[in-house]
Amino acid sequence: MRWIRRRCRGARGEKELDCVPILPDLMQRGLYLSYTPTRVSGHCFCRSIRFEVNGPEKFACLCYCESCQRAAGAPVVAWATYEKESFEVKSGTMCWRQSSPGATRGHCSDCGSTITYENEQRPGEIDITVNSLDDPVGPILRAHIWTEDKQPWTIFGDELPVYKQNIGQE
Ligand SMILES: [Zn+2]
Ligand SMILES: [Zn+2]
Repeated sequence: MRWIRRRCRGARGEKELDCVPILPDLMQRGLYLSYTPTRVSGHCFCRSIRFEVNGPEKFACLCYCESCQRAAGAPVVAWATYEKESFEVKSGTMCWRQSSPGATRGHCSDCGSTITYENEQRPGEIDITVNSLDDPVGPILRAHIWTEDKQPWTIFGDELPVYKQNIGQE
């Protein structure tokens, strides 16, 4: 894989990242997979769970699917994707729950905060809730996904690409 240095567009403006192009559709839209390993940390609401993962993220987006809404009790969840093998729980006990076929969500067993999402279709990757990170401003959010499930009063305040379902599914 050939990494190139380029500017990436996100919800909070542009940043320079080491990147590799991913799906052609995303390339056209100026969306790239980023790669510059640095250790990122985070914690759950009650601070029982503390975790670390190698970042920055490979990708990050805002998900409006019904499962995320129910799991978080919120209209939208921001997710950042990392290499699963780099995810390390430093303290506390995670509770793992199969939330739909092939999908597992990880919560804090004490306070129930949603921390992780894994899908069998993306082995080796783990998604982490951006708002569990110590620095939620770090990941560059690049798309709105599963917007067909969003509540009518959820309104987008940026120009990121909007997908009715997942990226590459429409
Ligand atoms: Zn907790
Ligand atoms: Zn979702």
